[in-house]
Amino acid sequence: MAKHNADLLIVQAGELLTCRGPAEGLRGEALRQTDIIADGAVAVGGGRILALGSSAEVAKSWSAPTVLDATGRLVTPGFVDPHSHLLFGGTRHEEYEAKVTQRAPARRLDGGIRFTVSRTRQTSDAALVKQAMSDLDTMLLHGTTTLEAKTGYALDREGELRLLRLTAGLRHAVDVVPTFLPLHVLPEGYDDRRKEYIDAAVASLQAASGLAKYCDVSCDPLCFTYDECLRVGNAARALGMKVRLHADQHGDARGGLAAAALSASGADHLDYTTDEGFRAMAEAGTVATFLPGVTLHLCEMTPRFAGSALEGAEKPFLPMVVRRALEAGVVAALSTDYNPGSCPTPSMQMVMALAARLFRLGYAEIWNMCTLNAARALDLSHDRGSIEAGKRADLVIWNVANHGMVINRFGVNLADTVIANGSIKVQHGRLAS
Ligand SMILES: [Zn+2]
Repeated sequence: MAKHNADLLIVQAGELLTCRGPAEGLRGEALRQTDIIADGAVAVGGGRILALGSSAEVAKSWSAPTVLDATGRLVTPGFVDPHSHLLFGGTRHEEYEAKVTQRAPARRLDGGIRFTVSRTRQTSDAALVKQAMSDLDTMLLHGTTTLEAKTGYALDREGELRLLRLTAGLRHAVDVVPTFLPLHVLPEGYDDRRKEYIDAAVASLQAASGLAKYCDVSCDPLCFTYDECLRVGNAARALGMKVRLHADQHGDARGGLAAAALSASGADHLDYTTDEGFRAMAEAGTVATFLPGVTLHLCEMTPRFAGSALEGAEKPFLPMVVRRALEAGVVAALSTDYNPGSCPTPSMQMVMALAARLFRLGYAEIWNMCTLNAARALDLSHDRGSIEAGKRADLVIWNVANHGMVINRFGVNLADTVIANGSIKVQHGRLAS
């Protein structure tokens, strides 16, 4: 029998972890399962996965000019990272040292964001893009192949549209999904003019709708109210945009309920979301995305913590919050929330390590939440997030044999080879030229 031609074969994987499941995502018992093909192989062509199975099965039907031997190695889908603030100017490392050593009073949330806003304004388009491309390289080296990227560090209409144009123009092996974030925090001087600010946000949506897949709004006691978020979210939906939310990070602002009312694709943070909010999200099909890097970086592991935006406040115990969401039937994902203030890591491997240690999640849960469910949070689970025939060929070959080892070891990059859209972009841990 003549063999079919592929562009690339990966053969003899010690573990081929597919993360496959229904396009609506994995929850309940299915979230706790791994689908592993021992001695697995994948055939790739035209940027797509053509076939998978045991090495013997795939070798019988497929040949290719490039064959990667994955003997003794784990092969998985590339990570989908569904929450980042990719474009910003400056760094916040000095503020961070003052915070952890408690040498200076903690900046209010909006104070920190305002600092980044002023630095972003002072940074040229070319410099912002150069930094973003370098960060995308780092993400790719760590196994991320799809990234959501938000605006949000301008806080005015023209500035946010500038960041959106730059984000939408990025061309990189990591596929960037642009999100317009017109309601991040209220800028200085608007305390008595909230309605004026919301009106301007609504007015900016028309121009944003051609460039952004999503409109994001922050439903939080320190940011915007349920009603304000519904007004902007519904205006975005009327223009054909999908909606996502920052919800309930610093307190219960009914963010989970707002997400459900807007049929949002995702709602993220959720530290204070109620059971009622999680049930509404489950019914609306809104993905809950948890951000353990933020929990670590803001030193929020203990129930009572100092130096936060709500100093002395009782912080919910996050392993319980995540469990409550899963028990309510929500599809849950994980993300970096890469940004200079609350989570400067671009690495989904780090997020996995933290999800086990800070949220007490199991290996299967974590892998499914960083792949298929994360793709679902970006409405892309029909196209990527798992190793299935017909899907985009985004694959990682790891320097370890077992999926649990990627989470058990931490602090080192374990990705050896990264294939994005069918092309080898990283080999032996280095960017392919
Ligand atoms: Zn964010």
